Amino acid sequence: HRFFVSPAQDERGQLDGIMVFIVDITSEKRAEQVRRDFAANVSHELKTPLTSINGFAEMIETGMLQSSDDIRASCARIHREGSRLIRLIDDIIRLSEIESGSAEEQVAPCSLREIVDEAIASTESPAREKGIKISVSGEDVMLYGRRPMLYELVYNLLDNAIKYNVPKGSVTLSLSQKEERALLQVSDTGIGVPPEHLERIFERFYRVDKSRSKQTGGTGLGLSIVKHIVEYHHGTITLTSKEGEGTTFTVVLPKNGK
Ligand code: ADP
Repeated sequence: HRFFVSPAQDERGQLDGIMVFIVDITSEKRAEQVRRDFAANVSHELKTPLTSINGFAEMIETGMLQSSDDIRASCARIHREGSRLIRLIDDIIRLSEIESGSAEEQVAPCSLREIVDEAIASTESPAREKGIKISVSGEDVMLYGRRPMLYELVYNLLDNAIKYNVPKGSVTLSLSQKEERALLQVSDTGIGVPPEHLERIFERFYRVDKSRSKQTGGTGLGLSIVKHIVEYHHGTITLTSKEGEGTTFTVVLPKNGK
């Protein structure tokens, strides 16, 4: 708690006593802690790919690698880690844009079905590679929102539903509306989230299985961006999950965008 003391005056301006204000700064403190943790995590996340880029470059430079196959393999690693760095930086910038409210997108009427179809089209290749079947159910819902953000929201959930699915699994996107709200559910038949991780899954850089996330090219920021987008639109996001059976994310957004 923080205390403020101030003199109190009566209606004639005479000193009448003192006023003590007690301000709860718990949430302020927590926000500061989150910022500090984020800065530490960012440094770590950026340093890991850079360290390996440096290592491979040094091996090539000092002639430690002789065969052209080895050299090519190292270049491929450098390339992969470089792409990872770009994705990370893009996600960090996007997150801070949404968080600070400096994202430029304007509110406009959007068709949820159109956005869902677009997201499905852009995840077609990973879905096909893994043999994942994607289906859509329900009627289109129109809502006011920032279209690029809503697309990102659906894309990230769908991308995860494919990434954390089992081969030949399936994903269902259901659209519906209830009174003034639009509802979107993304269900998968994937690996699920163990109950002890459910609460932390929207935190920045939080991953249930670090190596799996890295293998699939994840930055650990996707769900955190999703959550920020939902909150930016005054909506809510929840999930239910069963290990080894699958996960369902439910997004509820006000149709008027307010
Ligand atoms: P990542 O880049 O690691 O995918 P996200 O922020 O998108 O980061 O997700 C955080 C973590 O939540 C993931 O690492 C994964 O462990 C878990 N996760 C997200 N979506 C799903 C899902 N549909 N099924 C199972 N686990 C999931």
